Amino acid sequence: MNAAPSNHERQVQVWALMGSVPALVLAAFLAARKPEARGWAWAGLAATVAAALGSSLQVRRRVRHPLQTLSNLLAALREGDYSFRGREGSDDALGVAFHELNTLAELLQQQRIGAMEATALLRTVIEEIDVAIFAFDAEDRLRLVNRAGEALLGQPKERALECSAAELSLDEALGGPSSILDAAFPGGAGRFELRRSTFRQGGRPHRLLVMSDLTRPLREQERQAWQRLTRVLSHEINNSLAPIQSLAGSLASLTRRALPEGESAEDLQQGLAVIERRSAGLQRFLSAYARLAKLPAPERRALALEALVPRVARLETRRPITVNPGPELTVSADEDQLEQALINLLKNAAEATEITNGGVWVTWRREGRWARVDVCDEGPGLPPTANLFVPFFTTKVGGSGIGLALARQIAEAHGGSLALENREAGPGARAVLRLPLPG
Ligand code: ADP
Repeated sequence: MNAAPSNHERQVQVWALMGSVPALVLAAFLAARKPEARGWAWAGLAATVAAALGSSLQVRRRVRHPLQTLSNLLAALREGDYSFRGREGSDDALGVAFHELNTLAELLQQQRIGAMEATALLRTVIEEIDVAIFAFDAEDRLRLVNRAGEALLGQPKERALECSAAELSLDEALGGPSSILDAAFPGGAGRFELRRSTFRQGGRPHRLLVMSDLTRPLREQERQAWQRLTRVLSHEINNSLAPIQSLAGSLASLTRRALPEGESAEDLQQGLAVIERRSAGLQRFLSAYARLAKLPAPERRALALEALVPRVARLETRRPITVNPGPELTVSADEDQLEQALINLLKNAAEATEITNGGVWVTWRREGRWARVDVCDEGPGLPPTANLFVPFFTTKVGGSGIGLALARQIAEAHGGSLALENREAGPGARAVLRLPLPG
């Protein structure tokens, strides 16, 4: 930066010129008093004036140049460029000033790197944390959302940012008085714990909303409780069933030999056969529950939905299943478990449409960081109960009530979710299975 000559520089030059004043006075005195030396005196006077001017300009340059360098360095610091360094070397006042400035630039550079690293860490934590975080400005427009928030809203941040809290259905969560909210969002319904606070950015007030989904930990506790119960019950019932079944078998063969052919022998045989069949059925039933209670950890590998979904759809033979292919999507999942979950959902959809003769279709798409699979049917819709996912709950004759519970357990073991809802566009239900996409 080149500044116009300042008073300071002019003063320095004037003071440098002042040093020649005595010589000038002497030369003028000599020229006036000694006419024979006038020629020499004028020559001396001219030489003194020239030398004084030259040296004063040099002094001015020497003062001005380092000051300009210093001001350029300070301007660079002010603009956030900390890479400039002044030339140190000497231990005079100028050298010390440059040294101090260089140390300041280094310090600011380190502080900036530290601040950038801290911001990057904070950003990563905010992104990775599995509670939904939203920041709204004074006009209730969304300014910040993390990944969990995107998943809850069911839309990417590019679309959600700038939307109002009401447009995102977050107005109640943001402005309401309670700290617990039961609500349904595109990314899932459940019970949420709300924490609200305010902060200022750019001098303007902002509101922060943190929503943690309590459903999953509650469900986990619930699951552990019924898994324990199932284990105890299965053990007890199995202990009694096994001897009942084998005794019924041996009594049947005994009566075949011991009793003469006749109506009472036949009745007895039939009765024993029923006991045997029913206890075998009960045992199968119990082993299905045991599967639910002992679901192993998923053995993940890369699975392409465009291959898996049509393959599973072909297994359901009761009703025609339409596959509406979505984009190519690869999830990291346990193949057997994921197949099992889809089989259960398709089975329910097919059974629901057996009464109405409606259609069943399955499709998938990408939703933010999720792969979303929809199994839709034109059945009668869901029964009005909150118990659909409760193990053993069934409205079907001969139903086991473990299909949905097992499918949800599989989805959650993969870090995903499963929800069931009535379709808005017509009668029937829709199962929404979400699985995290790798990366
Ligand atoms: P099950 O099929 O043995 O009854 P599930 O756990 O799979 O066990 O389902 C539990 C209940 O949820 C079913 O009995 C049914 O009432 C309801 N349900 C599940 N899927 C649907 C659907 N697509 N349409 C209507 N009701 C459904």
